Formats: sequence, structure tokens, C-alpha cells
Amino acid sequence: MMKVTEFPDKRVEDYSSIVGKEIIELLKEKAEKIRGSRVLNVNSTAYGGGVAEILHNLVPLMWSLGIYVEWNVMEGSEEFFRITKSFHNALQGNTELKLTDDMKELYLETNKINAEAVDFSSFDYVIIHDPQPAAMIGFVKKTSPWVWRCHVDLSSPNMEFWSFLKKYVEQYDRYIFHMEEYIQKDLAREKAIIMPPSIDPLSEKNMEFPEEEVERILERFDVDPDRPILTQVSRFDPWKGIFDVIDVYRLVKRQIPDVQLLLVGVMAADDPEGWIYFERTLRRIGEDPDVKVLTNLIGVHAREVNAFQRASDVVLQMSTREGFGLTVSEAMWKEKPVIGRAVGGIRLQVIDGVTGFLVKDVEEAAEKAIYLLQHPEASKEMGVKARDRVKENFLITKHVERYLDLLSSL
Ligand code: UDP
Repeated sequence: MMKVTEFPDKRVEDYSSIVGKEIIELLKEKAEKIRGSRVLNVNSTAYGGGVAEILHNLVPLMWSLGIYVEWNVMEGSEEFFRITKSFHNALQGNTELKLTDDMKELYLETNKINAEAVDFSSFDYVIIHDPQPAAMIGFVKKTSPWVWRCHVDLSSPNMEFWSFLKKYVEQYDRYIFHMEEYIQKDLAREKAIIMPPSIDPLSEKNMEFPEEEVERILERFDVDPDRPILTQVSRFDPWKGIFDVIDVYRLVKRQIPDVQLLLVGVMAADDPEGWIYFERTLRRIGEDPDVKVLTNLIGVHAREVNAFQRASDVVLQMSTREGFGLTVSEAMWKEKPVIGRAVGGIRLQVIDGVTGFLVKDVEEAAEKAIYLLQHPEASKEMGVKARDRVKENFLITKHVERYLDLLSSL
């Protein structure tokens, strides 16, 4: 197990300029009830993907409220992460995958080794994220409440995988899902909590910065700020609908030849499939110079992602399954209308026709993108409403409040 030690500095007071003083006071009051407690988070990657993004910001913000939060990342072989990627895919609905005895064995053994490396008794609360470390609970002597937080779209899982995982999930004191529809029927409903994730408006990913800097970043990556920009930010994962994004762009280009497409994608440490899909994406694009593939391999990090989102005219999220999709809120916070497929967490964030559009397929997405590009006023209006929606529901301060309520109830 590896302990994450690098965090940005955070002070809860800094958020009062965004959410108001009352909210900050409320958070301090709620934190008082569990002040000094020790909380351990465990997940499977320190960077890449939504869980790492959230913990990176949430951990130091909790510190500033007087709660000691630690974040450990489990370790495993490449084979282990291939297996857990199958878990991820199966839980999101891939019914063709089979769970073999060898897979179970390596999965459990890795969980056991990681569990034995930590002194859980020194924590007052343990929060385990996603399927990778979920079975650790089977190898410890529990001395405090354990919470399992599920970040995947569990609306129609492969039952073979779910039945296996469920034996461990059941042992937790609470399970957190982003949405009601992810709660499996065979779980105890009273132990389930609905809690959507959040974005941090002051992180490098989302903070305001001057127009000139956005333009400098665009220039560095050869993107033309004077021509329309469509963007999707996502890992190279088959569930993210990246090929559909390319098809949407091609349909839009027939009518708006100037349009550019930015595919912003990160390679996550716990996702061995990413490389294969990355290469397939490049092949699919072919020679088109107006499509830019922008990854961490060429220096695209939080600041750059921020700039690309700000520079976009329309942001797409064509995922076929989406646990939540932080990228949607990130774009909405920057006043961008988002066109997303009507699935999972995208449906929770985008209000169809108000803050963007929920679509069923490539054709509809292209039609809405063309509409937005041709109606900048309507697009702007949607963007403003999008930001309001995030402010009300999906900011880190709200998330902290929900966590404080949960922990003090345990
Ligand atoms: N992300 C990034 N660079 C990329 C692609 C993604 O920084 O090239 C970030 C993105 O901004 C978001 C997170 O990774 O904060 C992805 O979270 P999301 O919930 O959208 O999807 P997940 O990857 O967890 O399925």
C-alpha cells in the first residue's frame, strides 16, 4: 500500500467567495462533531480518473476542518489490474466477461496482501473506493465503521461478477452510490447512501485564469482559438464513446468546415486497457489535422485541461456508461453547454434543453452541436444555467458537508 503525500494547500475559508460565509460556518459546525477523528481512504490509483481527482482535493480540505484524512493507494501486479479492469467492465454491464477461479484467486490474494500492510485499528473510519480494494474487508479485524464507495455505473451489472463482489460489499456498514438506480436489489437498502461526487472550483483544473493564458496553452498545442472547438475529456476507455465523438465531429464538419475537435485523454495507472484504446483512436482519426489528441504524455495536465475546457464552444460526453462523469461538471462550471448521452451520471448533471442536451445517438448529438455553434446567444444562456446547476449541487463544499453528515451518523 502506498500513502499519497502530495496535496495542494487548502483552506476552507477560501471557498467563501464562491459559496458564501454561511456555508463555511455550517461546515465548521458540522466538522466540530467529529473533530480530530482519523479517516482512511483506499483506492487503486493516485492519478488519472475521477476518484483520484476527488481525493486529491477533498483530503486537504478535510484537514483544514480539523479532520485527519489519509489516502492510501493499493498495489498490485499488472495482471491484478487487468482483472480489476474486467471487474470494472463487467459491473458496468459487459455480460460476455467470465470470472474464472484464477481471477478470483489473484484478486483476493492481492486484497489480502494490501489489507495486511495497514494498521486499520488506528483509524476511526475507513472508506474503500470501487471494486479493486473492496475485498480487503474480508481480511481484517474490523475495529471501526467501514464504508464502500462505488464510483461505477452499476445500473445493469454482469451478475456473475456482482454476486462475487457482493459477498464483500455486504460486510460494510454503509455503501455509497452516486444515484438511486445503482443500488442493487440484493443489498440492504438502509445501509445505502446516495451521494454524488463533486468538483473543486479552486483546483488547477477548475480555477479561473486569464484569457491570455488560455490562448498561450492553445498555441502550444496548435489549436486555433478563432475557429469553433468541440471537446471531450476522458480516459481512453471503451465506455467513454470516443469513436462516437469522432463521428459527431465528422457530421458537424460537413456543415461547419472550420470546426476542430480536441480529444483530451489521460493514461491512468490502473488502466492497462488504455493504451490499446488510445492506439485504436489514433487509427480511427487518420490524417485529419483538425483533430488533436491531447494527453498527459505530451504535457496535458490539470491546467491544460482547464484551458481546453474554457476554450471550447461545445463539450461532448458520449459515454455509453458513466458512473458520474466529473468532466461534465467541470465543463458546466466553466459555463459550457454539454451534449451528453442520456446515461448514468450524465443524466444527473445535464438538464436537457436547459444546461445542454441529453442525446441518444451520434446524429442527435451532431444536430445539437450544430445548433449551439450557430446560436451563440442560446449557447451562452445554457452555459450560465449550467454553472448555476453545478454551484447548487456538485461543488466540493457540498460534498464535504455530505461526508461530514455521514461520518457523524456512524
Ligand atoms: N482527466 C484529466 N485529463 C484527461 C482526462 C481526464 O485530467 O486527459 C480528468 C478529468 O478532468 C476528470 C477525471 O480525470 O477530473 C475523470 O473523471 P470522470 O468522473 O469524468 O471519469 P472517470 O475517469 O473517473 O471514469
